[in-house]
Amino acid sequence: MNEQYDLHCHSTASDGALSPTELIERAHLQGVTTISLTDHDTTQGLDEALQAALRLNMRFINGIELSTTWENHCLHIVGLNINPDYALLKTGIRHLQTIRSERAQKIADKLARKRIPDAYAAVTAAAGRGMITRSHFADFLLKQHHVSTQQEAFDRYLGQGKSAFVSTTWASLTDAVDWITQAGGVAVLAHPLRYKLTANWMNRLLTAFKDMGGQGIEVITGRSSPEEIILTSKYLARYDFYGSVGSDFHNPSNQWVELGRLKALPETIKPVWELF
Ligand code: AMP
Ligand code: MN
Ligand code: MN
Ligand code: MN
Repeated sequence: MNEQYDLHCHSTASDGALSPTELIERAHLQGVTTISLTDHDTTQGLDEALQAALRLNMRFINGIELSTTWENHCLHIVGLNINPDYALLKTGIRHLQTIRSERAQKIADKLARKRIPDAYAAVTAAAGRGMITRSHFADFLLKQHHVSTQQEAFDRYLGQGKSAFVSTTWASLTDAVDWITQAGGVAVLAHPLRYKLTANWMNRLLTAFKDMGGQGIEVITGRSSPEEIILTSKYLARYDFYGSVGSDFHNPSNQWVELGRLKALPETIKPVWELF
């Protein structure tokens, strides 16, 4: 059978549209054979996802996507094959969850000053027991007809420097890598080209990340072009990282990003799953 990996996706435990069970079932239909659920700053969906994966005979890898701040950049670090019960990791996650809910309140306050009231109650209800993210605010702004697309919500209100943007200090990169590796996992830099770093900054980041114990880089993400894959592969080879693949799937209505529909890792790259 053809192995198909997808090691980065989201459920209703954060800003995904599908429950962990629905997500695993959809991945199965798409031909995924090994999946990791990597919700933002929470491991809450992992138990349910594991049960669904077991029923479907899929391999399941415990995962998370941690929000970090490094040199004023917000960077996402995916932790793969973590033990979600490891105390240090749990404490770290709880800290990030506090930061998240305080930030949500501040975003809502900024929106209120723009004559858009009641956002906090709306996003809290929408997130349920899951993490509140800016995607929830974007959905709220869309539903209330303040914007006509999710993208416009980021461009006008939620994106960096926009009127409801709240600058946030997340976990430090070192701490996040420590929590993941001490919990038995592999720390992977998520979607490296999305941060718009210059080559100089990228080299600084990869040097630092490697020093801290980071082991992987996402080479293939949802919409990687051949040029992006070549560029990322060069960085990977320069610093001897393992390569990961993950769709960053959030929502079936985004037709551009589907579970498991991922290009193959270039053959020269060591796959991150060799470490599991
Ligand atoms: P947060 O971690 O709460 O800042 O939310 C970040 C999430 O918002 C990301 O994981 C994406 O799902 C989504 N997001 C960020 N930027 C954009 C954008 N420009 N357009 C659409 N969604 C975005
Ligand atoms: Mn997201
Ligand atoms: Mn991300
Ligand atoms: Mn993600």
